[in-house]
Amino acid sequence: MNKEDILKDVIYWAGRSYKAKMAPATSGNISRIEGDTVFLSRSGVCLGDMWNEDVSELDLNGNVLNGVKPSSEKLMHLEIYKKRPDIKAIIHIHCPYVTSFAVCHKKMDEPILPEFIFNFGAVPSAKYALPSSMELANEVSEYFKNGNNAVLMENHGLVAGGATLKEVFYRLESIQAYAKTYFAAKFLGKIHTLNKDEIKKIQNLKG
Ligand code: 13P
Ligand code: ZN
Repeated sequence: MNKEDILKDVIYWAGRSYKAKMAPATSGNISRIEGDTVFLSRSGVCLGDMWNEDVSELDLNGNVLNGVKPSSEKLMHLEIYKKRPDIKAIIHIHCPYVTSFAVCHKKMDEPILPEFIFNFGAVPSAKYALPSSMELANEVSEYFKNGNNAVLMENHGLVAGGATLKEVFYRLESIQAYAKTYFAAKFLGKIHTLNKDEIKKIQNLKG
């Protein structure tokens, strides 16, 4: 893919994430990797207001190739790419519904929705570490190394990865829907979880 199309892709899915209320104000960041080059949103940009000049280019060692200051979470993006070569795109969000789980140190593991069980099983929660730190990058990327495609970050937000930005965005929408459904259901009445038998049947749909 040529650079113009890569930038268009990053800016499009950044905009979709912002419009879906996943990244208020200047929170969150987005990247994709092409060959050995990582295209990452610049630090401080609003995902809903990105232009070509808001995308930083880095190598996997963190060297900036085009002079644009990369997201403060560059270590986290780079560590995930290094540990999971199948992941080619990453979005980090601060969606309030999702972040509420992270604030309560509550992973998303209640078997309430077949679609969520089928796609994720559960979304784990990584221990709190200072935003932008190597410690946070290590905590989070270990979960990806163990096969997770989305991880909550305590008192912070969530990060998801996938083969394309489109796949990542759909994962985020699914997670956001789980969070909103959970809140609304809790307000309405008793939450009924699916039993082990039902969970197994859902998992078996994968074939
Ligand atoms: P950046 O604007 O530096 O990407 O920071 C946003 C963020 O969410 C930090 O965790
Ligand atoms: Zn953040």
